[in-house]
Amino acid sequence: MQKHADRRMLLIEDSRMFSTVLKHGLETLHGLSVTHCSTFAAARMAIDDNPGEFAVAVLDLNLPDGPNCEALDYVTSHGIAAIVFTGSFNDETQSEVLKRGVVDCVIKSQPDSISQVISVVDRVLTNTSTHVLLVDSKKESRSELLTMLRQQQFQVSQAVDGAGALATLDSFEGIDVVVTDLVLSDMTAHTLLAEIRQRHGEDGVSVVALAGGDDRQQAARFLQNGGTEFIPKPFLVDEFNSRIYHVANIRRRIQMLHNIAARDYLTDIYNRRHFFQHGPRLVEQCLRRGQSTSIAILDIDHFKRLNDTYGHEVGDLVLKAVAGRLRSLVGEAHLLARLGGEEFGILFNNLAVSDANSFCEMLREDLAQAKVTADDEELTVTVSIGLATVETQESFDNYLNAADQFLYMAKYNGRNRIVSELTLLQSMSA
Ligand code: GH3
Ligand code: MG
Ligand code: MG
Repeated sequence: MQKHADRRMLLIEDSRMFSTVLKHGLETLHGLSVTHCSTFAAARMAIDDNPGEFAVAVLDLNLPDGPNCEALDYVTSHGIAAIVFTGSFNDETQSEVLKRGVVDCVIKSQPDSISQVISVVDRVLTNTSTHVLLVDSKKESRSELLTMLRQQQFQVSQAVDGAGALATLDSFEGIDVVVTDLVLSDMTAHTLLAEIRQRHGEDGVSVVALAGGDDRQQAARFLQNGGTEFIPKPFLVDEFNSRIYHVANIRRRIQMLHNIAARDYLTDIYNRRHFFQHGPRLVEQCLRRGQSTSIAILDIDHFKRLNDTYGHEVGDLVLKAVAGRLRSLVGEAHLLARLGGEEFGILFNNLAVSDANSFCEMLREDLAQAKVTADDEELTVTVSIGLATVETQESFDNYLNAADQFLYMAKYNGRNRIVSELTLLQSMSA
């Protein structure tokens, strides 16, 4: 998988030589889809026709129909990160251009200018998909760092102290990198790091500390305790940018590997390993917050018969169809995985018991009505579901065993049905 596969960028360049080489390089090295325009008018049309599509633009300053940075202004006013690629550059234009919020400038006459543009694009795309949590109790330095991070196209959230940072990390899964000052109003970066590692694991998030002074002992200690990077102050802006990008880049690569390891090869939904890795943490989080959670196991009925009748390949098609349907119904709110064979698990995140029951009922009905076309035939399958409420702190295996026992009862009672604490209570009182 290429790093930026399927992301789109705009190349505004009237020189045929540069545009051909750049387009080719960006597409083959990063898997990007590059839209090339050789005039300001064409670029404007491309932006208007594809709102929100381009994350980044590489542009020449001197265009036949836009000699005065018109394209640059148009690009930045549409929230697209701009990388200027230009021939002539005196100090006056440089400061003029930098004032307009471009990410970087590359001079064409430099011998390695093409590979420079390609690596700046890589940096910008990595940064745009990296969410940084900036933690600093001093308003002034926080605002300076915020400006720098935003200029480098990071998505940024802010916290004014350690407690605020931990709360943000707890309530929002998407933080990739924490950038924190060494001394916060309520704790040090060392304490914050220890808390983050305890709550979010070894490589859940990268943690970078910034500190003034000459005490190198602080840096050593921070890195020894699992900190990702330590940047001494004062630093050069370019140095800061490069170090944070470096951290973001490694983060992205780790995530790509995690993603490959977490997916089931046949259905592309999460696999058993991911379910067992993330499930316990999710349960723990729900219990800590006093939220309801439960675990469902779904098993396709008489799947062996389907395999025996239509063959293994058709069986695979049905598995993919069921997984795809579950994926779109369950969405991102809850944890869905293929636990093995024709068995799927759902861990409901913050969902009341009765709602989890209704949700499972909806899944059961939806799947029973869905048709899978294979070998010119329309096949239907049904599922049985065991749903167990999670109430007290127990081992993850215990919750799954409970769901499995309910599933067994659902099979025993005739299949194509749900068994849970709630359905058992209802059948007793009926
Ligand atoms: P029940 O209603 O009791 O669940 O009956 P069942 O036939 O669905 O259950 P059983 O556990 O006896 O059989 C499951 C079958 O699923 C057996 C196995 O060949 C098949 N299976 C497991 N993994 C795959 C797979 O990846 N592809 C295909 N096509 N079949 C699979
Ligand atoms: Mg089965
Ligand atoms: Mg089974």
